[in-house]
Amino acid sequence: MNYKLLDGKETSKQIKEEIAEEVKQIISKGGKRPHLAAILVGNDGASETYVAHKVKACEQVGFKSSLIRFEDTITEDELISKIKEINLDEDIDGLIVQLPVPKHISEEKIIETVSPEKDVDGFHPINIGRMTLGMNAFVSATPQGIIDLIQRYNIKTSGKHCVVIGRSNIVGKPVSILLSQKSNTGNATVTLCHSRTTNLKEICKQADIVIAAIGKQGFVTEDMIKEGAVVIDVGIHRVKSDKTKTGWKLKGDVDFEKVAPKCTYITPVPGGVGPMTIVSLLKNTLIAAKKK
Ligand code: NAD
Repeated sequence: MNYKLLDGKETSKQIKEEIAEEVKQIISKGGKRPHLAAILVGNDGASETYVAHKVKACEQVGFKSSLIRFEDTITEDELISKIKEINLDEDIDGLIVQLPVPKHISEEKIIETVSPEKDVDGFHPINIGRMTLGMNAFVSATPQGIIDLIQRYNIKTSGKHCVVIGRSNIVGKPVSILLSQKSNTGNATVTLCHSRTTNLKEICKQADIVIAAIGKQGFVTEDMIKEGAVVIDVGIHRVKSDKTKTGWKLKGDVDFEKVAPKCTYITPVPGGVGPMTIVSLLKNTLIAAKKK
C-alpha cells in the first residue's frame, strides 16, 4: 500500500504561522503579548531539551517566555510558593512545570497548585474533568496535537474503531476520551488497551486507527495492523546510530519500516506527534491570553 505521512513538522509549521499572525493582530490592536512561563527543576537532559524547544517555539510565534530554573535541592514548599506567585502574576498567561520533578516533590501537589486558568499543559484535575465532560478546557498538549493532526488530514473518526495502546494520564487516557467524544474529531468506538490487556494483537488487528503510546520502542509490529489502517506513533526513544553525527536517532513505539506499507496514513518519528505537542501548548497559551 502507498502510505501517506501524517507530517507533524509541516502541519505544526502551518499552525505556528496562524498563531504568529494572530499575535501580530493582537499587538497591532494594542493588546498584550501572550506570555508563557516554564519552571524547570534540576538538570535532566531530556527535560532541558523539551523546555528549550518550548521556549524557542514561543519566540517563533511572538510570545514572551520566561524560564524559571531551580536546583533539584529546592523544597516542595519553595516550589509551591513560586507557583502561587506566578498564579497571581497578571503578566503571565500560561504556566508549565516540566515533569518529572525530583522524587521529594509531589507531582500531584504541583499539578494541583497551578491555577486551572493558567494550566496550559491541561494536567489540572479541573481541566481533565471539564475535558471529560465535553466542556471548554485546556486539553493536554499531546492528545490535542494528535486530534489536530487527524483533523488537518481529514481523517474520518466517526464510527471508526480506534485502539489506543497505553492509559497514561497525559496521553492514552485523554486521547481515548477525545476520540469517543460527540464531536467532529470524535464519535469513534474506542478500545483502551494497557499492560494487562489480553489478546492485544487480535484487538489491534481490528482497528481502523491505532494510537501507540506504550513507551517501548518498536512494540507495534506489522502482524498487529490491519491493511489500510491509520497509525499514530506517540513514542520517543533515543537509539544508538552510527549513521548520524550525534551518534543517536529517534525512534517510536511502532516498527515504522515494517508497519508503514500496511497503512493509509502513518506518523513518522521524529516529525509526527512531537512537533504537534509543542504547538498545542502554544494554542493553549494563546487561548489563556485571549481570555483576559
Ligand atoms: P507511560 O509510561 O506513562 O504509559 C505507558 C502505558 O503503556 C501504560 O499505561 C501501560 O499500561 C502501557 N503498556 C506498557 N506495556 C504494555 C504492554 N506490553 N501492552 C500494552 N500496554 C502496555 O507513557 P506515556 O507518558 O504515555 O508515554 C508513552 C510514550 O510516548 C513514551 O515513549 C514517551 O516518551 C512518549 N511521549 C511522547 C510525547 C510527544 O510529544 N511525542 C509526549 C508524551 C509522551
